[in-house]
Amino acid sequence: MKSQRIVAYGAPLESADLPTPEPRGTEVLVLVSACGVCHSDLHYRDGGYHLGGERMLTLKERGVELPITPGHEPIGRVAALGPEARGVSVGETRLVYPWIGCGSCPRCVAGRDIDCLSMRTLGLFRPGGYSTHLLVPHPRYLLETDGLDDGYASTLACAGLTAWSALKKISIHYSDDGILLIGAGGVGLTAVGFARALWDCPIVAVDRDETKLEAATAMGATHVVRAGPGAVEAVRESLQGPAAAVVDFVGTPDTAQLGFDVLRKGGSLVLIGLHGGAWPLTVAMLPLRNVALVGSLTGTVAETREVIDFVRNRRPDRIPIVARPLREANAALAELADGATIGRQVLVPDADSTRSTARSPSEALDMIPPA
Ligand SMILES: [Zn+2]
Ligand SMILES: [Zn+2]
Repeated sequence: MKSQRIVAYGAPLESADLPTPEPRGTEVLVLVSACGVCHSDLHYRDGGYHLGGERMLTLKERGVELPITPGHEPIGRVAALGPEARGVSVGETRLVYPWIGCGSCPRCVAGRDIDCLSMRTLGLFRPGGYSTHLLVPHPRYLLETDGLDDGYASTLACAGLTAWSALKKISIHYSDDGILLIGAGGVGLTAVGFARALWDCPIVAVDRDETKLEAATAMGATHVVRAGPGAVEAVRESLQGPAAAVVDFVGTPDTAQLGFDVLRKGGSLVLIGLHGGAWPLTVAMLPLRNVALVGSLTGTVAETREVIDFVRNRRPDRIPIVARPLREANAALAELADGATIGRQVLVPDADSTRSTARSPSEALDMIPPA
């Protein structure tokens, strides 16, 4: 199999020809047809998260070992089954749930792998989808996506799931409720489309990039605001008051502060983004304003099933998908780091031998065979 791997932090990924693994026990071998490129992959490539000041949470501290084959939005065809793998057949298309826990602790047994203290996440602790092949530990992490094309469906494993799980943590009750979504990257744009399909309320999108704000408007944002000075006032003006809920898909001190400042009494601020930094919180304002401050990290297998059903049944607007060959993983990451991606880039192993880079969503969709 061919994989694109992180062999040193802060360095470009390297291409590797490796023996194709043979599934054992309950394992399933998947022939990858598409794998989305997530902002977290940049953190993995660079070796950690900024905690503020000079402090970093390094992947080494988290127990991650090099090399890493990134990629936690994989989809593909079942290629081989271990002798104890049940419930899937060779040739079937499955989305791979990557947020895998130890499988045996009380949280994993309850289906909350995401809260496991010994995560075995694909694309970080175990090889991920930047590869022609991928070994999945158990069929319970394989989800059926009939009716969805592979390129878009792949993004549901992280962008879709993260957006869905975040939006489930807020509620729209009152006639004057409106929400603020900060950051219109792949996850934020997905959330704009989902929120539009879920609620008939004002949705404000904030980003520093004008093109991303245009994309947010196309996805259903009722108002857009450029990040920076005056954003608090502009958001309040757009909503004709404070926000009932804010989801921060960026996660810098500035964006968290913006979210907190526009929140109404009784509102919720959900923090998703991992850009990092430290944020001085006026503690008394939490109880005085009766607000909820919630961190949200992707979601569960059950929520992945929910989001697949949601996109099939409610058909929210889809984020633009730009496919490119797997061998262009480094270029894809560089483009993402530059903030130049609208929607999601998806790496397609099949395209390596047959196609060159696709740049537009329509070209990209042509490259991905239907599910
Ligand atoms: Zn991700
Ligand atoms: Zn566990």
